Amino acid sequence: RPRVLSGIQPTADSFHLGNYLGAVRQWVALQDDHDAFYFVPDLHAITVEHDPKTLAARTRNGVAQLLALGLDPDRCTVFVQSHVPEHARLEWVLGCLTGFGEASRMTQFKDKAAKQTADRATVGLFTYPILQAADILLYNADRVPVGEDQRQHVELTRDLAQRFNSRFGRTLVVPEPYILAGTAKIQDLQDPSAKMSKSNSSPGGIVNLLDDPKVSAKKIRSAVTDAEREIRYDPENKAGISNLLTIHSALSGRTIAELEGDYAGKGYGDLKKDLAEIVADFTAPLAERVQGYLDDPAELDRVLARGATRAREVAGATLAAVHDKIGFLPPT
Ligand code: ATP
Ligand code: MG
Repeated sequence: RPRVLSGIQPTADSFHLGNYLGAVRQWVALQDDHDAFYFVPDLHAITVEHDPKTLAARTRNGVAQLLALGLDPDRCTVFVQSHVPEHARLEWVLGCLTGFGEASRMTQFKDKAAKQTADRATVGLFTYPILQAADILLYNADRVPVGEDQRQHVELTRDLAQRFNSRFGRTLVVPEPYILAGTAKIQDLQDPSAKMSKSNSSPGGIVNLLDDPKVSAKKIRSAVTDAEREIRYDPENKAGISNLLTIHSALSGRTIAELEGDYAGKGYGDLKKDLAEIVADFTAPLAERVQGYLDDPAELDRVLARGATRAREVAGATLAAVHDKIGFLPPT
């Protein structure tokens, strides 16, 4: 079975619709016919300012959300990144293969660094794409299901794997990005030219999966659109409306063309009202399901302990092969 690996950062109290439609929904589908590894990258979460008092709770909450959304720990491996020390250790080796200019070209770094207050952009933020490459390569992943914003990082990962293999001999699997056209970039409701983002969007721009449906309905009603009246999919000229159609289509199963027909002659308010209901139908049961997992911490701990053990088996073997190829003296 092909191997897949992906992760989602514990950088907020809730995942948002973009995380689900761009990534986690595919993870749930892939666990059936793939050997799947999914993790909560807490090492990545400290690349931007964070609160040590909430990180552990957010990490648990992230795992609980993944289970509530349909990951089944009997069919996939679920773990927390800091429980597997091999990630940081492979990152070091890959960092020694990455050019400074190459790392400087990562657009996520540039975007996120620009959002940090003066001189708070860290070396950790700069090197995080290399850590992400380590995350992927440790597990010999064939496919990496992510949103469009991660395409450049998967490209870097492929380059580093190929570079390692050509310099030291075939060791690492070169992964393919798995990015679904259509839902790979859900936009911010208030700024439809930017992606919806846990750490960068304004509160009004994000539909959180764990928010009260009334709160989400209000955000959808206030979503930025355009001065026309026609409901038509045209991301270039009608980014806001196109984004609402994309979300509607992904959750309702109607194609975009069908939706354009359904809404012919109707107003933006009708689309927003229907979308708020569709989103509510999807999100309403989630908060309680997440709470169910959080209320049984011993079971959650067992899932994570099992996940870390399995992850370390695979990651440890890859790291040992890498260390051998680069010529480190094996520990005695
Ligand atoms: P942060 O702002 O902290 O980076 P994020 O919202 O970008 O948070 P991540 O944890 O970085 O979320 O990413 C988890 C997964 O969700 C990744 O596969 C990413 O590509 C995907 N993703 C994130 N935002 C979107 C979006 N707006 N549309 C589609 N996919 C997305
Ligand atoms: Mg992100």
